[in-house]
This record gives sequence, C-alpha cells and structure tokens, in this order.
Amino acid sequence: MKYNYDVIIIGSGPAGFSCAMQSSKFDKKVLVIEANEESFGGTWINSGTIPSKALRETARIIQRFQSQFEDLSHEKAYQHHKMEELLKYKNETLKSKNTKVENDFNKNEIDTVRGFGVLKDNNTVEVTAKDGSKKEYSGEFIFVSPGSKPLQPKGFKVDHDKVLDYTSVLNLNHIPRKILIIGSGVQALEYATTFSNLGSRVSILNETDSFLQFLDNEIRDQLTMILDKQKIEVFSNAENIEIQSNGLRNTTEVRYNLRNDNEGKRTRVIETEHVLYLGGKTPNTSGLGFENTGVELDEEGYIVVNSDYQTNVENIFAGGDAIGYPALASASFSEGRLASCRMFGIKALDVPPEIPFAIYSIPEISSIGLTEKEAKSRGYDVTVGRAYYKNITQGDISNQQDGLLKLVFETESLKLVGIHIIGERASDLIHLGQAVMSLGGDVRYFINHVLNYPTYSEAYRIAAFNGMNRVYKAGVKYKKLLKNNK
Ligand SMILES: Cc1cc2nc3c(=O)[nH]c(=O)nc-3n(C[C@H](O)[C@H](O)[C@H](O)COP(=O)(O)OP(=O)(O)OC[C@H]3O[C@@H](n4cnc5c(N)ncnc54)[C@H](O)[C@@H]3O)c2cc1C
Repeated sequence: MKYNYDVIIIGSGPAGFSCAMQSSKFDKKVLVIEANEESFGGTWINSGTIPSKALRETARIIQRFQSQFEDLSHEKAYQHHKMEELLKYKNETLKSKNTKVENDFNKNEIDTVRGFGVLKDNNTVEVTAKDGSKKEYSGEFIFVSPGSKPLQPKGFKVDHDKVLDYTSVLNLNHIPRKILIIGSGVQALEYATTFSNLGSRVSILNETDSFLQFLDNEIRDQLTMILDKQKIEVFSNAENIEIQSNGLRNTTEVRYNLRNDNEGKRTRVIETEHVLYLGGKTPNTSGLGFENTGVELDEEGYIVVNSDYQTNVENIFAGGDAIGYPALASASFSEGRLASCRMFGIKALDVPPEIPFAIYSIPEISSIGLTEKEAKSRGYDVTVGRAYYKNITQGDISNQQDGLLKLVFETESLKLVGIHIIGERASDLIHLGQAVMSLGGDVRYFINHVLNYPTYSEAYRIAAFNGMNRVYKAGVKYKKLLKNNK
C-alpha cells in the first residue's frame, strides 16, 4: 500500500464521523484525527447540537408539567430546581453519545489518534499530541472537517463568568433570574425560550433590523405572540454594545445605541445578571497547513469546495461548518457521506437543494421550501392551507395549543411548494410534508390517506382541507379535481 490509509479525516464532528463510517463500509482503511483529548464529536456532541437540545428538553418537560398541572407548580422552575441537577441530564446524554461514537469507530475498525492535525502536503498529515510529540500519517484521500468556533464580539469581551458564549453557558451553576441574549439567529431564540421556560426573565438584543426575517410571515406572527406570552422582549437595531459590571447594584449593565434612533444617540441600558453572546461563528481553518497544499480558502477562511465536497486539490475533500452554509449537523452528516462516495467512485444522489431547517425553540419551528411571500414574488399562483394547534386533538390532549401548520401549494396542480410549522414537534412533523413534496405529491395526499389519530400529524389533514376549500372558493374546480382523483 502506497499510503498508510485510504482516507485520513481531520475532526470527528458529524462531517468527519459520517465520512469515516461510510468509508469503512466501503472496506477502506480509515484514520480519524481528533484534537480534543477527552471526547469525540466536536460541537455536535460537546458544546452545540446535543447539549443545547438536552438542556432544552429539560426545560420543555418542566414547561409541559407546569402547563398541565398548574395547581402543583406555583413556583418558578428556578425556585424548584438546581442548574446542577438540570445539567446532570445533559452530561449523561453527552457521555452516552460519546461512548456510542467511540464504539462505532471501534466496531468498524476505524483507527483514531488524538492530537492537532496539520497538512504537510497533499497526502501527509502531521499530528502533534498533547505532550508535544509529533507523528506523520499518509493517506490517498484527506477529508478536512475541523468545524467552527464562536466569533469574538466587538466592544466587549466574553469573560465566561458574567458574559457567556455557547460553550460556557453549559457550565452555569444556577438558573439566572435575568439573562440577556445578544444575537439575532436561531440559537438566540432557542436559548431564550429554554431559559424563559426555566423561569428566567429573558431579553434578546439583536444587532440587525429584524428578527428571523426568513420565516414565513404568519409563522413570525405566531412567534411574536408566543414570545409575548413568555414575556421575552426583543430589542432590534442595537449598535455600539458595551458591557460593564455595576458593583453597587451587583448587576451587569449592557449599554447600546439604536441604529437610526429618532431620539438622537441616546444610550440605552439593560440591567441583567448574565449575558449570553450568540453572535456568528468562524471556521477552524487557521494553522491547518493549507498553504502546504494550495487548498483554496475564501476571504473569511472557509474552505472552497465543489458540489462533490472536493477542494481545488483533487484528493482533498472537506465538509461541515468549515465549508460554510448551511453549517448544521444535519447537513454535515450528508456532506461527509457524499464526500466519501465521491472519493471512492460510488454512485450517490446529490443532497437535494430543498433541505428542512428546525429551530428548537419552545415550541419548535420548522420549515422547508418557499414561504407564501417568496412563492408569490417568484410568480407562482399559490393557495395556502392552515391548521392551528388549538384545532388539533393532540394539541388539546397535550395542552399545547399554540402553533400553526401552513401549507403553500400551487392552486392549479395542488403541488406543495412550501411547508411552515411552529408548534410542538414541528421538527419531526416537517418530514411527512418533506417526503410528499420531494416525491412530487400534492395536498390531496393528506386527505386521501388515513393518518394515525390523535397525532400532531392531523394538522396536515386539517390544513389540506382548509386549503382545498379555499381553492374551491377561488373558483378552481375542486369537485372536478376530486372526481379525477377517483
Ligand atoms: C449552540 C448550538 C446549537 C446547535 N444546534 C444544532 C441543531 O439543533 N441542529 C443542527 O443540525 N445543528 C446544530 N448546530 C450546528 C452543529 O453543531 C454544527 O453544524 C456541526 O457540529 C458541525 O460539524 P463539523 O463536523 O463541521 O464540526 P464540529 O462538530 O465542530 O467538529 C469538529 C471537530 O474537529 C476537531 N478539530 C478541529 N481542528 C482540528 C485539527 N487541526 N486536528 C484535529 N482535530 C481538529 C475539533 O476538536 C472538533 O472535535 C448547533 C451549533 C451550536 C453552537
């Protein structure tokens, strides 16, 4: 064998993990290099996807208990529960997930080495271990998936005590009475609703002019109503953010100006106990030796790849957060798998352009395809069908009446072009619509097929009837459509 390995993988997050697993299934000799001494899985298992969802799950259970048994729960969660106890569940989840990844590597005879990997040339990676010792490994192919890290904010510092980021928030030893989240994205909303359901007073300070603008308008309206109910305030258009501690009042003061403030440049102040900074991310690509290979990076340091996840160097592939959008664990799994298929010449379909996204707020939001506004602006003649959770039996049973499932479909063909959900189980529910949509189905699927009852999926049936009634009222021949369907 010319090289030590068929493929060397830098980083054991979802992209690296799935590339390793797929390559081993092709009977290839695989080495995974991981810089973290204690655990595999990167941001996915240790500081991002899984821990935030494990903490959220705890908050959700508390919220469900409180909404169902109000009489038993006069007190706020932070009066009942110690953060330490809540984090225990998260820690156990991480430990179990970590063991599973390690077992998968062992079972599939995937070699692993701990240390920081640096590309020395197109086929060689040098690994520096914690004790400073170095060793070189060669591979026919190299898959680079070093992930990303939090971007440092301008104007203030993350001290991991009063000002936290997504890594240090997981080490909080109490549930804060008040927390201010600085960020405008998905994770800001997720942590905001998690802490609100744990009993904290939560505000969001957002540096852009709107919050989650990409959501369908009606989903955003529902979200605004839900945030109001949870007493979460959102302050948009903030700039010149500074953070100071006020020793006298034992608080943290966040000062900022409003962009385009019609009251002049007035400084606004929010007092809080903790700040959670959830700004952007930056790829972990510095110091990886790309200059030794000629692999192209863009101006922000992201690795440039083609649709096969191949860099401009033929045998070097990359995936995950280090290649940029969509920077999700869900997409990273597909990227690693597909890169492996492309390396070893195995046929596999490209990732379809329409991928769903989920926001694990309480309640969840999930979406795929075009919003109503996008569809109309692209010239589609569309009709919408809505089902409010208050009209779904499962919503009543579970006391989860806040929510909306909205179908956007072509009026003439009834084919789905978008599905938008806010409400309990939205991130799972979306997949039924995704399957129908990707197989070219139309809204009649949800009327003609029997779905389990009671379930949240009933929302699809109600939304389909609601949409079909609107088509009928609009004058398109509903009866004819149903007749043709026989
Ligand atoms: C708070 C939060 C919540 C999130 N929630 C979700 C969610 O709900 N759903 C979702 O799909 N996505 C979610 N994400 C995004 C998801 O975590 C990332 O998209 C995903 O982990 C990226 O995978 P990756 O393989 O690129 O990198 P990572 O998971 O970051 O793994 C990279 C690994 O490479 C290692 N490494 C780096 N450099 C080297 C080197 N030179 N040598 C050796 N090893 C190296 C690192 O130690 C790390 O273990 C969330 C992220 C955050 C921060």
